[in-house]
Amino acid sequence: MSKNALVTGITGQDGSYLAELLLEKGYKVYGLRRRTSTPMMENIEYIKNEIEFIEGDLLDQGSLINAVQKSNPDEVYNLAAQSFVATSWEQPILTGQATAIGVTNMLEAVRLTKPEARFYQASSSEMFGKVVETPQKETTPFYPRSPYGVAKVYGHWITVNYRESYDMYACSGILFNHESPRRGVEFVTRKVTDAVARIKMGLQRELRMGNLDAKRDWGFAGDYVKAMWLMLQQDKPDDYVISTGETHTVQELVEIAFGHAGLNWRDYVVIDPKFVRPAEVDLLLGDSSKAQKTLGWKLEVGFEDLVKMMVDSDLEKLNR
Ligand code: GDP
Repeated sequence: MSKNALVTGITGQDGSYLAELLLEKGYKVYGLRRRTSTPMMENIEYIKNEIEFIEGDLLDQGSLINAVQKSNPDEVYNLAAQSFVATSWEQPILTGQATAIGVTNMLEAVRLTKPEARFYQASSSEMFGKVVETPQKETTPFYPRSPYGVAKVYGHWITVNYRESYDMYACSGILFNHESPRRGVEFVTRKVTDAVARIKMGLQRELRMGNLDAKRDWGFAGDYVKAMWLMLQQDKPDDYVISTGETHTVQELVEIAFGHAGLNWRDYVVIDPKFVRPAEVDLLLGDSSKAQKTLGWKLEVGFEDLVKMMVDSDLEKLNR
């Protein structure tokens, strides 16, 4: 008997990789899609005919109940959010509504309609923010540094609370930064690899950046969605950190990306205060040994290969 999965945020980077994985495993995949004037289907164009879309919005409780009723899910993956940290200072209330309260809306829809469904919440290393210990693991206290991080902390704890209050199979995956050619161009990795390709092709002259000293633990999104699925296949629900265990500066990312295209980054990168944030997360480094041991999860793509993959993909896109 094939299983049903309901995925929110299906048009995003993670939604597309997860949908691909679930389809490969024989799931019937339902995707919650928010109505926009121009459909954002680029990431899932290649599998869109295999997905059943349900219109809905994390801010509209009725639409979520309808989505759970229609899809009758065995597993629910809540990936939808206002997910860009910088925007969370511009739109802190919307970020709170979607990224925090949206989780409760989804949990309530599941609790009222199909409480035995397994639930995955996309939590984030941004919850560690101004880190109180390094490396960060499941027991590390949170100290968020942006309205986005604050909202994700709420989403994490409400997931834990529904598990403890209602005995629901609810898991929170604390995923460190994960990237791919499908990442939005506002995030630093894709912003850099897209710019490198444009500069290489003579379409752009410079790249304006913020803080190059920030350190992140960057992995490949395709590896990370496997961990989401594994979390919902265990005997008991739990929370897990997913990370590479390596940290790199934004400058290292820039060096590798330009270097891969045969360019010297110093000739093109300009620091622009516009991209410096009101409060910064200086260092993230995750310890995913619990996930490796308990879930048998492992990393396949390392940092350098990831950056090169993204530069190659952006060059190829422009060539087309
Ligand atoms: P985040 O970790 O979720 O905030 O992911 P981002 O990819 O948006 O940012 C990662 C880091 O890159 C942060 O520390 C940013 O301050 C830093 N950074 C430096 N310059 C830029 C830039 O021009 N754009 C973005 N998005 N981030 C930048």
